[in-house]
Amino acid sequence: MEKAFDFKDKVVVITGAGGVICATLATAFAELGAKVALLDLNLEAAQEQADEINSNGGVAFAYKANVLDKDNLEEVRKSVSKDLGKVDILINGAGGNNPRATTDNEFHTKDLPEDTTSFFNLDEKGIEFVFNLNYLGTLLPTQVFARDMVDKEGANIINISSMNAYTPLTKIPAYSGAKAAVSNLTQWLAVHFSQVGIRCNAIAPGFLVTNQNRGLLFDDDKPTERAEKILRNTPMGRFGESEELVGAVLFLASESLASFVNGVVVPVDGGFSAYSGV
Ligand code: NAD
Repeated sequence: MEKAFDFKDKVVVITGAGGVICATLATAFAELGAKVALLDLNLEAAQEQADEINSNGGVAFAYKANVLDKDNLEEVRKSVSKDLGKVDILINGAGGNNPRATTDNEFHTKDLPEDTTSFFNLDEKGIEFVFNLNYLGTLLPTQVFARDMVDKEGANIINISSMNAYTPLTKIPAYSGAKAAVSNLTQWLAVHFSQVGIRCNAIAPGFLVTNQNRGLLFDDDKPTERAEKILRNTPMGRFGESEELVGAVLFLASESLASFVNGVVVPVDGGFSAYSGV
């Protein structure tokens, strides 16, 4: 058990690491001795997190990376190898929804006002953007970094899916479909890499308040109707904290605890996915 959470000198690459969830994961790995590469489109945000980790005695580098640009990812891979060594663990965390792929209403009704964003006039480019960010944004970094993980002891990949993958939430069809595809890709990769020692798993977080959904959940500090609905459907009756995802991620990443765990998507959701609402 001593080695259960020993990530000393493991190189952990995390995309979306300037964001709320992945910055928390980066900090946890660093506290357990890992060398962390924080990749984000927003370099400033990633750098801020890396600085914080380094000032607390950890080892972290920040990189400007676009998970949708393979050439850029190849460059980043070279820099990570030079600065920290070859990757052991990849966390595909970059993702999110976009207002351009969100309908105004939960249900279609007759005689909606002209200016309503309904299913019928959802912006095709917005849908493509969200689908690409979540699905391709998981696949491309895996193509680039998993090359170095082949036959590396303890190598594994962790994707971030969502409750939307099980049952789609109203209003956000592209995000829901893309996260279902991320769960599916997790299983596909687990099978595909099973003979070369790379495990692939995912977590499916329940509802946390982060930058990408704050606008949907709060209206000046007051929970929106949607936020109240979410809380009613979360048996534990509250939003999660990013720190509450750490245990599941460390377990999946740990070679001594999870060496035979491959292709699973672990819900961390306060019971949301188990609850019928009745
Ligand atoms: P966040 O918005 O705080 O962080 C997302 C980060 O991804 C941001 O720092 C952003 O700059 C970065 N990013 C966006 N596009 C990028 C690109 N093309 N290349 C590189 N980086 C890019 O969101 P979060 O809540 O911390 O989300 C992390 C992951 O968790 C996402 O995949 C999200 O879909 C998923 N998730 C979140 C929740 C929740 O309730 N917050 C629930 C389930 C799943």
